[in-house]
Amino acid sequence: MFKVNRRDFMKLTGGAAVVGSVLGMPHIARAAGQKVVVIGGGPGGATAAKYLKMGNPGLDVTLIESGDSYVACFLSNEVLSGERTLESLTVGFDGLKKYGITVVKDTASAIDPAAKKVTTSGGKTFDYDRCVVSPGVEFNYEAVVGYSEAASHKAPHAWKAGPQTLLLRKQLEDMKDGGTFVIVAPPNPFRCPPGPYERAAQVAMYFKHKKPKSKIIILDPKDDFAKKGLFIKAWTSLYGYGTPDSMIKWVSGADGGKVDKIDMETLTVSAQTEDFKADVLNVIPPQKAGHIAHVADLVNEKGWCSVNKKTFESSKHPGVHIIGDASDATTMPKSAYSASSQAKVCAAAIIDLLAGKEPGDPSYVNTCYSIAGPDYGFSVAGVYTYDAEKNEIAGVKGAGGLTPVDASPEMLKREVGYAHSWLANIVADSWK
Ligand SMILES: Cc1cc2nc3c(=O)[nH]c(=O)nc-3n(C[C@H](O)[C@H](O)[C@H](O)COP(=O)(O)OP(=O)(O)OC[C@H]3O[C@@H](n4cnc5c(N)ncnc54)[C@H](O)[C@@H]3O)c2cc1C
Repeated sequence: MFKVNRRDFMKLTGGAAVVGSVLGMPHIARAAGQKVVVIGGGPGGATAAKYLKMGNPGLDVTLIESGDSYVACFLSNEVLSGERTLESLTVGFDGLKKYGITVVKDTASAIDPAAKKVTTSGGKTFDYDRCVVSPGVEFNYEAVVGYSEAASHKAPHAWKAGPQTLLLRKQLEDMKDGGTFVIVAPPNPFRCPPGPYERAAQVAMYFKHKKPKSKIIILDPKDDFAKKGLFIKAWTSLYGYGTPDSMIKWVSGADGGKVDKIDMETLTVSAQTEDFKADVLNVIPPQKAGHIAHVADLVNEKGWCSVNKKTFESSKHPGVHIIGDASDATTMPKSAYSASSQAKVCAAAIIDLLAGKEPGDPSYVNTCYSIAGPDYGFSVAGVYTYDAEKNEIAGVKGAGGLTPVDASPEMLKREVGYAHSWLANIVADSWK
């Protein structure tokens, strides 16, 4: 009789981790050795790589990421108020290596969907059976007349965390008491819908203690924004919103908040009805899918990647999946939590597709916290299901919801604690 001892079996299957899955899920054995290349190590890409490898350790998973480490935007508004350091938002990729993921520091410069190859600017090529693209967003600088990438060194967007966040913090620290901080908010859809309004609150928290004569003006092309009722309540309770002494002024689209042009010499923003002179100017430009999505012909006419919402496979190029901010899954907010939820759905679908199986019907989840003051937080949560008829991600009625507008001080304080544990949890889930 032919006998295979444990050591031989390990050699045949390629490692201890494979044993459980081969014995438990015979269809997965067929997929062993198949290659998945993931582009981008943010919450979308890192989570996809990790869950692909955990779901089928026999897969050969390569993560290509431009940076040495990832710097999270989420909770980066707390860096602007001085409540947290950028280091506390920085995470490396070593945690992913222990799952057997190959991490390559390089920039993907092309995807050939016919040959199933990814090329990098470092001159390497990687074959794939499936490719996952999670590059985040790129800015339409030119859409704001007078603004440009070069101008962002004087009027930072701070919408990608890193040097831009530190520059904006430094400018706020250097600003005189009695100065004006102007935020130019972007049109929909954009990364982190509540972000500009949380930013106003975080900066107001700093001004209230250090520069109480200063003002914050938000110029907005929109008349509505995420968690508006909760923000207005917080601004009113904490920063005098609605009174002549309010520290925060929000100029909606209907009130002329859309910006026509910016004079970068004088930091004067011409909105539709009035000019605003800034001492510190934060321009958050309109957004589109990250650069590689454009180079690889994955975008639609609006600049986002159309996908099958069940698998996140590109509507243009089979075998390529796009998740996170870059995808057109806009019924979910463009958030880190959405990116990570989409990554898990996508990883499960790829494992099934590589095994020749039809992926199951997914559900998705998002939660997003905002911190408006030291003991003042609130959140929105959504649970979603797949609507095959419309190829859309649809909210589940009765699931999720918002912090009540009449929440008690204890509840608002608790939400700040929840926000901070959410950060620890998503970092552990995605990168560790
Ligand atoms: C101020 C602010 C506050 C926020 N707060 C929250 C919050 O509280 N909760 C929440 O859930 N979300 C929040 N967000 C949103 C969140 O940051 C994004 O939605 C999330 O980061 C999207 O993840 P992603 O993986 O799609 O893209 P990203 O996080 O942008 O990651 C993309 C990665 O891909 C890499 N990359 C890009 N192109 C290439 C290439 N060609 N080759 C190799 N690597 C490449 C980049 O270096 C980057 O590391 C906030 C955002 C901002 C700006």
